[in-house]
Amino acid sequence: MSERGPYRIAVVGAGPSGLYAVAALLKSQVPVSIDVFDRLPTPYGLVRFGVAPDHAKMKTVIDTLRKPFEVPDVEYFGNVTIEPGFGAQHLREHYHAVVYATGSQRDRDLAIEGEELSTGAVRFVNWYNGHPDAAQADFDLRGEQVAIIGGGNVALDLARVLLKDPDQLGRTDIPDRVLERLRSSSVREVNIFIRRGPAEVKFTPVELGQIGELADVDVFLHNADLPRSAAGSELDRRVKRNLEHFEEWSGREPGGKPRSVHFWFHTRPVEISGSARPEAIVVEQQPATGHSEQDAGRAAGRNPRSIPAQLVIRAIGYDARPVPGLPFDPASGTVPNRDGRVVDRTEIVQGSYVTGWIKRGPTGIIGTNRSCAAETVAAVLADLDSLPAPRLPSRNDLRAALAARAARRTDWQDWLVLDEHERGLGRSRGAERVKIPDLPSILAVLD
Ligand code: NAP
Repeated sequence: MSERGPYRIAVVGAGPSGLYAVAALLKSQVPVSIDVFDRLPTPYGLVRFGVAPDHAKMKTVIDTLRKPFEVPDVEYFGNVTIEPGFGAQHLREHYHAVVYATGSQRDRDLAIEGEELSTGAVRFVNWYNGHPDAAQADFDLRGEQVAIIGGGNVALDLARVLLKDPDQLGRTDIPDRVLERLRSSSVREVNIFIRRGPAEVKFTPVELGQIGELADVDVFLHNADLPRSAAGSELDRRVKRNLEHFEEWSGREPGGKPRSVHFWFHTRPVEISGSARPEAIVVEQQPATGHSEQDAGRAAGRNPRSIPAQLVIRAIGYDARPVPGLPFDPASGTVPNRDGRVVDRTEIVQGSYVTGWIKRGPTGIIGTNRSCAAETVAAVLADLDSLPAPRLPSRNDLRAALAARAARRTDWQDWLVLDEHERGLGRSRGAERVKIPDLPSILAVLD
């Protein structure tokens, strides 16, 4: 543990993983001053831009995440990108330790014919969540059928947002232009393609159950080889509860409702057809795991069928962008590390740490980042006394370097102004807040 100090620490990424790391550093009582960087003008990362608009309860974690900024020794540097020229090398000159919590911000590729006609979930989620990266995005929802590929919670978020009553979405923080688009949407049928069986989906039961609660939406299951009984078996609790939902839906009489969700199990996409936009998705049956090789051989490639889709969204998991100046493993989409200490081949990169999805890959719920950050911060604290002092030790040096760059840096006071402004917009729509989805408009509010 430290004997010197105060220590200068940078945290790159103001999402839940970065802010849990800040909270853990403060809790340690070691004298630290912490600068938190984010490439976006606003804090909270995945909570603001990943959590679906109708999951308001999940967003209340913000009440915890904002607490570090009430401490004078913590400063927010928003709209600052860590990039070549202002990368890991540069930060190392200013800080004893740098904790990277940059997450996974892009879609995995599917590598099938016609993929370019599809959109990645990141872009669609960014659009409905008012992320500045999607300020120019728009989606044509005049078609009746949407295909979603993937059996994780992001697929469920997409299906729910597409099929939920827009009046209910109007009471969330969804941007006005997105709400308008959803109000005029013609989408009637969402097909979710999952390459494995009902017991192997990545869904969490609460989120899955919400699909069955959507008003005026029938749920259909295809190729659902449900185990005879989930009750009393050795399946884990999450799987059992998922299976209970599927069992209930498989016993429901279709209600002739105007909209529907179809879960296609053991089904993989092989092609997206269309010209300027998608027209259909070609899928094949995937052999169930546990089948004998002979069965698998017979089932492989079976029953190819074309299902109309005027919008195809890939929700097959996220991938990370490398951090300039840090090693990166493209296969796992992570920065190689040992308990949060960055490792280059076999060597520890002194003073550089990772936490969150860039450390362990895009899995887990928001709370998972708390224990992940605790592990990384324990490594930081153990190392602090042996780390070299920064060459440029004052925040003024950093401010001067940032002022010389083109982008206008935002600070915590700016966020409070924007926060109040968005809440004001919310009041006029009967919502808690309405997000401003683009950087120029955000800066206009601030300036
Ligand atoms: P995910 O949970 O990893 O699910 C990805 C899905 O895509 C899996 O079903 C996977 O199948 C499938 N897939 C992967 N590659 C594929 C391919 N080439 N072809 C067809 N299918 C493929 O990822 P996610 O949905 O993006 O979620 C990311 C994380 O955020 C998860 O931890 C999730 O729980 C979390 N999240 C939570 C919430 C919430 O709590 N409400 C909301 C959104 C996201 P296999 O299983 O066969 O690999």
